[in-house]
Amino acid sequence: MEPILPGSRIGVLGSGQLGRMFTMAARRMGYRVHTLSPDEDSPTGQVADREITAEYEDVDAIAAFARGVDVVTFEFENVPTIAAEAAARHAPVRPNGRTLHITQQRAREKGFLADHGFPVTPFAWIQSVDELAAAVVHVGLPAVLKTAAFGYDGKGQRKVGSLDEAEIAWSDLGRQEAVLERFIDFDREVSMVGARGVAGWTVTYGLIENTHTDHILDTSVCPAGVGEPVERRAAEIVVDLLHALDFIGVMCVEFFLTRDGELLINEIAPRPHNSGHLTIDASMTSQFEQQLRAICGLPPGSVEHLRPAAMANLLGDLWRTGQPDWAAACLVPGVHLHLYGKAEPRRGRKMGHLTALAHTTGDALRIALKARAAL
Ligand code: AMP
Repeated sequence: MEPILPGSRIGVLGSGQLGRMFTMAARRMGYRVHTLSPDEDSPTGQVADREITAEYEDVDAIAAFARGVDVVTFEFENVPTIAAEAAARHAPVRPNGRTLHITQQRAREKGFLADHGFPVTPFAWIQSVDELAAAVVHVGLPAVLKTAAFGYDGKGQRKVGSLDEAEIAWSDLGRQEAVLERFIDFDREVSMVGARGVAGWTVTYGLIENTHTDHILDTSVCPAGVGEPVERRAAEIVVDLLHALDFIGVMCVEFFLTRDGELLINEIAPRPHNSGHLTIDASMTSQFEQQLRAICGLPPGSVEHLRPAAMANLLGDLWRTGQPDWAAACLVPGVHLHLYGKAEPRRGRKMGHLTALAHTTGDALRIALKARAAL
C-alpha cells in the first residue's frame, strides 16, 4: 500500500490535547490536519488547518469531513461507532472501528482481553442485583465496582468491602451495567506505549511508572526501573494485543504490577496516552509522531529513550487562586511547559503538563514537582 506522504490531509475526530499534540507533530512533518468535534476554539482546532464543529452523530458532516482528508484517526475513543463507520466509507479509519467498539466499553474490553488469554484483574459483568451478589462471591472482596461504560479518569467507580456496600454503590451508579473487579493491592502502576504500522511493524516504548490522585494521573516517570524481565513481559503483551486487534496506530496499555511481579492489564487506550506525554521531550520519536507514522504507512521512528524523565500533570485546580505563575516554573532548569489552550480551568480538568529531564528519574520528578509547586 502506498504511504500517505507529507502534504496529505489527516482528519482527527476529537479536539482535545491529544489531538493538539498529534497535530503539532503532523504539521512539523508537513501534513495538514482537519479536526471535527462539537467544540469551537478547541485545543486541537487552535493548531489545526481546519476546525469543523459538528456532533459526532451528524453522519453527513462526518462523511463530508472524511471526503476532505486522506486518512481519519481519533484522539477520543468515545466517538460513536456510527461516526467511525460513516468515515470509513470515504477514507481509511486507523485504528479500525472494531477496536473503537471494543475499547469503548469496559465489560467488552475485559471480555475481549480474557477471551484472548491476556492477563486481566478477575472481574464479573453485572446487569442485575442477583448478578451483583454472585459477582461478590466470584471476584472476592474488597472489590472495585465500575460502570461498564467507561467513566473518564476514574469517574463512575467505587471501592467496596461488603455485599451491602456493593449494593449501595451500584444503586449510586444508577444501577447501570457494571463490572466488579477484584481490588488489586498492587506494588505499582505502570504503562507501556506501543505502535503498529500499516505494514505490520510494531514498536514498544519503555515502561512508565504512574501515580494517580483521585483516580486521575498525577505523575509519570520513565524508565520505570522494574527490571528487564518485567519490561520484556509487558512488551510481549503489548505486541500480542496490537496484533490481536489488527491495530494500526498508537496504543497504551495500563497495568497493575503485583507484589509477585505479575502484570495485570487494567485498561487499554487505543490512542496516545497521558502517561506517554514525556516521550515528546525524552524520546527520539514522540508517541504522537509515532501515531502519524503508523497511520500514514511510514516506517517507525526510533523509540530510544534519551534521558530519565518525569511528567507532572497540571489540573484546573491550580487556577484556584488565579493564573499560575508560569514564569516561576520556567525558571526551573530542565523543565518544559506544555499548555493545552483550554480557556476554562475546571477542577480536575487537564490543562497542561510539565516534563523534566535529569540524570535519574528521582531527580527528574523532584524538578518537575518543584516547578509545579512554584506555580
Ligand atoms: P480506571 O479508571 O479503571 O483506570 O481506575 C483509575 C485508578 O483507580 C487506577 O489507575 C487505580 O489507581 C485505581 N484502581 C482501579 N481499579 C483498581 C483495582 N481493581 N484495584 C486497585 N486499584 C484500582
